Amino acid sequence: MCYAIPGKITDIKDKIVTVDYFGEIKKARNEFYELNPGDYIYAQGGFVINKISNEEAEVILETWREFFFKLKEVDLKLTYDTKTLHQRANAVRRQNTDNSCCVHGIVEFSNYCINDCLYCGLRKSNNTCIRYRMDTEEIVETCENAVNKLGFKALVLQSGEDFFYDDEKLSKIINRIREKCAVLLVMSIGERDLKIYQKLYQYGARGVLLRFETNNHELYKKIRPGHVLEDRINLIKSLRDMGFLIMTGFLVGLPEQSEADILSGIDLTGTLGTDMFSFGPFIPHPQTPLAGNPIPDINLVLDTIARARMRFPASKILATTALETLDKKNGAQKGLLAGANSLMINVTPKKYQSLYELYPDRAGIESDIEEKINLTLELLYSLGRAPADIGI
Ligand code: SAH
Ligand code: SF4
Repeated sequence: MCYAIPGKITDIKDKIVTVDYFGEIKKARNEFYELNPGDYIYAQGGFVINKISNEEAEVILETWREFFFKLKEVDLKLTYDTKTLHQRANAVRRQNTDNSCCVHGIVEFSNYCINDCLYCGLRKSNNTCIRYRMDTEEIVETCENAVNKLGFKALVLQSGEDFFYDDEKLSKIINRIREKCAVLLVMSIGERDLKIYQKLYQYGARGVLLRFETNNHELYKKIRPGHVLEDRINLIKSLRDMGFLIMTGFLVGLPEQSEADILSGIDLTGTLGTDMFSFGPFIPHPQTPLAGNPIPDINLVLDTIARARMRFPASKILATTALETLDKKNGAQKGLLAGANSLMINVTPKKYQSLYELYPDRAGIESDIEEKINLTLELLYSLGRAPADIGI
């Protein structure tokens, strides 16, 4: 396709001319005219169809210039219009990943943490948090139930950064689970030594869920005292190079986070070679220093999912539990219709679920696991999605 305005020839190679339309460069084939760089032509369907004088072309271009750029502006605005962005992202999801939807389980096996992240209810300074640790047997039993009875094919084992679970304990847990269940195991245990991760890989763990939380260096330093972003990113890269599947992303709606942070955060997530994108809203916890901050608008999270889908069309993108928490009735559905194609179901024993309070009033902890699975399947079937891990 060529514009119906004269273009200026900038280069000629045999029969192919390069044409400049207000900075936009196109090629056309010249079979009929004697042409030189600097000449003006009309092209259609990739062929030069007319040559016009420079004087005539410049008058026409002058009258078109303003309108040409105005049209481009409108086109750009409509392309990124959030009213249609979600639908378009959903269409891109379908074109690139079809209708399968991963439904992983998550086991939250300890809420002890040595860190003091400003946003998190499990931070060590939160004295009101009642702490628990599941022992090896209880973890293994929970996984056995999730895999062998409920049908999960992938489980995330998550905890605070809890050094009570050393390499020996963690290896034993993984070993025991793998003896009993055929399952993809994903570790979400924070910034532990590379040697520990290496050992966990040897024992059969194959994924890591480790968000970089924010790609803004200054903000990162503030909200994760004693830590720097480079260490987190380098760890994620090393784990990827070790062979782990990577699930990562960032918190959406953190105080001081700009739109540019969100856009470059999406880019960073993709360029880390991420296998599953995880963007969740920051939900302020009353017992943390960030208590007074507002809960982000759900659209900010949906827009982030949709933009990530447009930028990385074939990716797996999670509709997180925190997103569901912002709209308990429709949050998951909204995420899936804005470009997401993965969900997570909490399979932690019920007595611990309310204690794992990263943020208040988490979605899903009021119903039991079978009921949650049924609701999830109902939702997926109503949207024409095939659960890739459970169900079908
Ligand atoms: N300790 C590990 C894993 C548990 S925390 C780690 O930090 O990686 C898991 C995730 O919970 C974190 O990555 C963070 O993004 C999220 N989280 C913590 N506090 C939150 C809050 N107030 N709102 C939303 N998500 C939160
Ligand atoms: Fe600990 Fe993770 Fe919470 Fe930070 S986000 S305080 S590391 S559980």
